[in-house]
Amino acid sequence: MRVDKVLEENGFGSRKTVKRLFQRRVVRVDGKVITDGSYNVDSQLHELTVENKVVSVPRQHYYLFNKPAGVVTARTDKNRQTILDLLKEEDKKDDLYPVGRLDRDTEGLLLVTDNGQLGYQLLLPDKKVMKTYEAIVNEVVTEGDVEAFLAGIVFIGGERCKPAQLSVLSSSQNESCVRLSIQEGKFHQVKKMFLAQGKKVTYLKRIAMGPLVLDCHLQPGEYRPLTLSELQSLK
Ligand code: URA
Repeated sequence: MRVDKVLEENGFGSRKTVKRLFQRRVVRVDGKVITDGSYNVDSQLHELTVENKVVSVPRQHYYLFNKPAGVVTARTDKNRQTILDLLKEEDKKDDLYPVGRLDRDTEGLLLVTDNGQLGYQLLLPDKKVMKTYEAIVNEVVTEGDVEAFLAGIVFIGGERCKPAQLSVLSSSQNESCVRLSIQEGKFHQVKKMFLAQGKKVTYLKRIAMGPLVLDCHLQPGEYRPLTLSELQSLK
């Protein structure tokens, strides 16, 4: 949460008054003077003080989901179950939202948080946050496909993707199981990349996003809070 917002909500006055605190260099996070009101503080990671007195930072929430197929990655939906509908009553909070998007039929790792800044940062193209997927493709994936992904797939329609790492985990006569790591987050990206190679994804699961890895103890539809070290790895 922005430190200026925390201070305003803790009764330190209007925006203008809070600004003066930064100018007076009396706001510290973990002992370090902070002069930028947009600095992001988290109750689990930081101690915020003003004139050496501790200020309480509202707790923010971070849930690692194993999204099941059939559930939409949205805050609300008129007809379908959303990822937020899977939260237990005691975990439901107004500002929670999913970071990024998985298609309805895609399974796997999804972060849900009420930390708007963190979600925004993770999705910035400049941050190049790597997303890794496992997929089943309806034809044998060849060495030629691996090279094409590495060179940068061009979608039907002309849009070019950044180089991506594709490896074949197993193949039978008529399908392959693959792992794919991409830096971008274009709409239906994985499916469209294979379509550009004339192949169809029949199953898709995200297994990692940046430093977060899908927890193998989570069944589809289950979730848990991020551990402290997972949270630290995101900052
Ligand atoms: N790429 C896709 O095609 N679908 C997803 O859900 C995620 C990445």
